[in-house]
Amino acid sequence: MAASEIIPGIYMIRGKFADEFGFISSYIVVSGESVLVIDPGTAGDPGNNTIQLIRKLGLGPGDVVGILCTHGHPDHVGGAYRLKKATGAPVLIGEKDGPILEDPQLFLKERMVLDVAERMTMKVDRGPLRVNYKGVEPYRLLRNGDTVNVGDITLHVLHTGGHSAGHCVFHDRANKVLFTGDEVSNFPNDPRKFYLDLSGSVSARSSALSSMESLGADYLLPAHDIPHLFEDVRLVIEQVSDGVIHFQDSILHHLEARGDADVEQLVFDIRMARSIPVPDIYEFLLITTITVVLQGLQQAGLVRTDEKGVWSPV
Ligand SMILES: [Zn+2]
Repeated sequence: MAASEIIPGIYMIRGKFADEFGFISSYIVVSGESVLVIDPGTAGDPGNNTIQLIRKLGLGPGDVVGILCTHGHPDHVGGAYRLKKATGAPVLIGEKDGPILEDPQLFLKERMVLDVAERMTMKVDRGPLRVNYKGVEPYRLLRNGDTVNVGDITLHVLHTGGHSAGHCVFHDRANKVLFTGDEVSNFPNDPRKFYLDLSGSVSARSSALSSMESLGADYLLPAHDIPHLFEDVRLVIEQVSDGVIHFQDSILHHLEARGDADVEQLVFDIRMARSIPVPDIYEFLLITTITVVLQGLQQAGLVRTDEKGVWSPV
């Protein structure tokens, strides 16, 4: 089983390597006889590994006090139904991602720019984004400033709302640990790092990144791939902030070069210029993110759009 104790009482359970998605990371926090699972992973993985680890620690499924989700995307909440069934534990998620936890189809319908054929592919896809899993009714909807307790540990909820409208990060102040979900992840210069679903916001992400940096965490635990420790925490947050700015600048640059463009033309230009490296199979992430970034630039008064979805610089 790919699980390791990162710091005393906090274990990372590594999901299977899923090609370009890397490893999907789930965490468990143990304090006394209580266990909290953070981001249960996909419908298939890590699956039983979570329960196996809990047993290995001399505890049981009944000791799980909660299943806490940073946000409602399928690669992180797909396993919630199964884990809830096995443990009876309540599921907690940010208020605005509650509906997609309950009805996974809403993610495809409302938060991604996909045509019908792509939606069908997503449903049958065996990869981490497959959405043919069962929804779960959230027990508690989290808001900024809330706290979640497990044994002696208190996690403070910071609603970030950049990657998705309901995205939250969780801060253990006493141990200087920050669970960042997908708001800060590990894919330099590719769309998974920048990705915002249609409910997301680039300005919310930028201000969340500053807030996270000011927390001074020693451990940054993302929902994909490896954790970051100490000095590296500050550097990785800065790297993501730079990435957000680079993405906005690239869009503006391509728009200025063309005079005006729709989202598809911008995707084409980005691919040709390789200004943002995009693996082919993740082009749909780029379409969604560009749309949200353009909306942010519009709010900032830098671009405008017409009724046909053609964008131009102001
Ligand atoms: Zn996500």
